[in-house]
Amino acid sequence: ASLEFRYGEPTEVVVPTPNGSITFGQNHPLVIVAGPCSVENEEMIVETALRVRAAGAQFLRGGAYKPRTSPYAFQGHGESALSLLAKARLASGLGIITEVMDTSDLDKVASVADIVQIGARNMQNFSLLKKVGATGKPVLLKRGLSATIEEWLMAAEYILDTGNPNVILCERGIRSFDRQYTRNTLDISAIPVLRSLTHLPIMIDPSHATGKSEYVSTMAMAAIAAGTDSLMIEVHPNPAKALSDGPQSLTVEGFEQFMQEIAGLGRFF
Ligand code: PEP
Ligand code: MN
Repeated sequence: ASLEFRYGEPTEVVVPTPNGSITFGQNHPLVIVAGPCSVENEEMIVETALRVRAAGAQFLRGGAYKPRTSPYAFQGHGESALSLLAKARLASGLGIITEVMDTSDLDKVASVADIVQIGARNMQNFSLLKKVGATGKPVLLKRGLSATIEEWLMAAEYILDTGNPNVILCERGIRSFDRQYTRNTLDISAIPVLRSLTHLPIMIDPSHATGKSEYVSTMAMAAIAAGTDSLMIEVHPNPAKALSDGPQSLTVEGFEQFMQEIAGLGRFF
């Protein structure tokens, strides 16, 4: 993962999608990933996909397998949600990003996902990292809840070491002492630190970082200013009724407004 390994050359992760290839990398436009925390039903995922695409997103996110703190909380619709993601992909042309939690689901997830997500809680699940790496699919590696940058880059090494160079690092907030006003603490400094250490592209997820929809736009702008290559934004047609992560989700209209707000700021060529 080190910058010296590529003589200072940034890695470009090129992902074919129905709408054409999208490139994550320092010399490319900001890539926008948007969608609900969980895939809830066909109407909501297809509708959200079409609306976020129209607003300018390149990827649809949505969980089929959800890593919930409580085993009694909604765990995701699993395989049926994967087929709804496939439908939303066809309807919108967006690439799909969805999480795999267990190696036994990997083939199913990899058959639908254009990018396979490793969630924060599995960042150091080394057997999962090796198996996901071996699929050859692009991998979105979220930073662990309390992972140091070193631990995070070493987790990326497990994927790279399988011969798969297509790894994107996603900062999603780290655990600190105040959980009253923000869910996590967005480590904006991770952006310049990663730039000095690694050639891999960077994504920032202000939704999980803040846990509150009202702070998402501000932190996204901070991430753009610091040079992120991409953003992941949770969007739900009716956040008050969301089965997971409603409080941090933008409405579709909120996302449209958000895209207007950042239009002049990012690398939109
Ligand atoms: C998610 O993307 O919905 C998610 C569960 O994220 P994280 O692993 O960062 O908590
Ligand atoms: Mn979520």
